[in-house]
Amino acid sequence: MPEITITGFATRDVRFPTSLDKTGSDAMNAAGDYSAAYCILKTDSVHTGHGMTFTIGRGNDIVCSAIEHVADRLRGKTLSSLVADWGQTWRYLVSDSQLRWIGPEKGVIHLALGAVVNAVWDLWAKVLGKPVWRIVADMTPEEFVRCIDFRYITDAITPEEALSMLKELEGTKAQRLEEALNNRAVPAYTTSAGWLGYGEGKMKALLNETLSEGYRHFKLKVGGSIEEDRRRLRIARDVIGYDKGNVLMVDANQIWSVPEAIEYMKQLSEFKPWFIEEPTSPDDIMGHKAVRDALRPYGIGVATGEMCQNRVIFKQLIQTGAIDFCQIDACRLGGVNEVLAVLLIAKKYNVPIIPHSGGVGLPEYTQHLSTIDYVAVSGKLSVLEYVDHLHEHFVNPSVIKDGFYQTPMEPGYSVEMKADSMDRYTYPGEKGVSWWTSDEAKPILTGEKV
Ligand SMILES: [Mg+2]
Repeated sequence: MPEITITGFATRDVRFPTSLDKTGSDAMNAAGDYSAAYCILKTDSVHTGHGMTFTIGRGNDIVCSAIEHVADRLRGKTLSSLVADWGQTWRYLVSDSQLRWIGPEKGVIHLALGAVVNAVWDLWAKVLGKPVWRIVADMTPEEFVRCIDFRYITDAITPEEALSMLKELEGTKAQRLEEALNNRAVPAYTTSAGWLGYGEGKMKALLNETLSEGYRHFKLKVGGSIEEDRRRLRIARDVIGYDKGNVLMVDANQIWSVPEAIEYMKQLSEFKPWFIEEPTSPDDIMGHKAVRDALRPYGIGVATGEMCQNRVIFKQLIQTGAIDFCQIDACRLGGVNEVLAVLLIAKKYNVPIIPHSGGVGLPEYTQHLSTIDYVAVSGKLSVLEYVDHLHEHFVNPSVIKDGFYQTPMEPGYSVEMKADSMDRYTYPGEKGVSWWTSDEAKPILTGEKV
């Protein structure tokens, strides 16, 4: 690898006006504008590193300003020194004691860390000429384990245990790698029809459309009124059936208290959901456990993770048996390294990984993570969320065919956005260039903030 030095960085605040058509609407998030806070690392070479964190609009500027603080720690560092001992590098990035105070390892400062860490991975992958998933798939178990900061998780998994788990799978890795190269590593599920703000007609049409495209797993938002949800789930089951091998999932986005979640889900149990996602507060480990225990007799599992702030909360959710499915997020966690830590914990406790992927740029990221999980960590096929929004803005967008993610082969972490899309959707943006300075933006800019 050539010696490359990080000379500086830029941040970009990019927002798409998705609140206008209610894309992304759910019980808690009524009107999101899908946004990306970018960290772009500059080097003394032709390469740049692109990382982003997903938000849903207001506050994206706060994440950008946090990125500036974290990324500043990389100025003047060589890429080879950063990746030689990734676990140490990750520890270094969370160890500015003053910045740590405004976390620690959670909230805005951690969202920023995700963008910065992922930007380094993107840079490294571009320099090596490989997609990020392939770098990890090609690692020895020792190299994989060295990527992780084990502080706070050794009571759940030690580096030695991780090493022996990874070694056990080494013998069959080549076969799974082959499947990845043939685009058979990551089956997709769809949330496209499921947004709460979509009318009955649009929902039905989207369900039929995604069914004919080869999807077998469908997720719907719930948590409005029980009557409304029963009506929507009935429509969904009318389209996808009960006995055709199609799977239905529901997502409440944290709207309920623990007793409400249990009561509500009992009333939806006849529609046979595979799991309820985010039934309650993302920090409530014992609450999730109570919901899981109460719903087990109904055959309904519990999933969460998109707002799970770090590996410590995931450790507790998994150790206590509070969840059936682990929904890691590529940038809510502190980038690739912290995700790898959670993949290992989930593998040890036999909890399947189903990443959160509904948002701009997230499918581009998570296709790498699910591929890593299948090829190198769990060795088991899972499913990965896909939402068909805004992919046209990416240089190398994620692609679904026959119900499978097409394994990304371009060098990098796939979240680099086209330059003109960035300019057009930069917020607040340049007059005459950014959409946000146009008359079309006025209903959002001057409307009620919900
Ligand atoms: Mg969700």
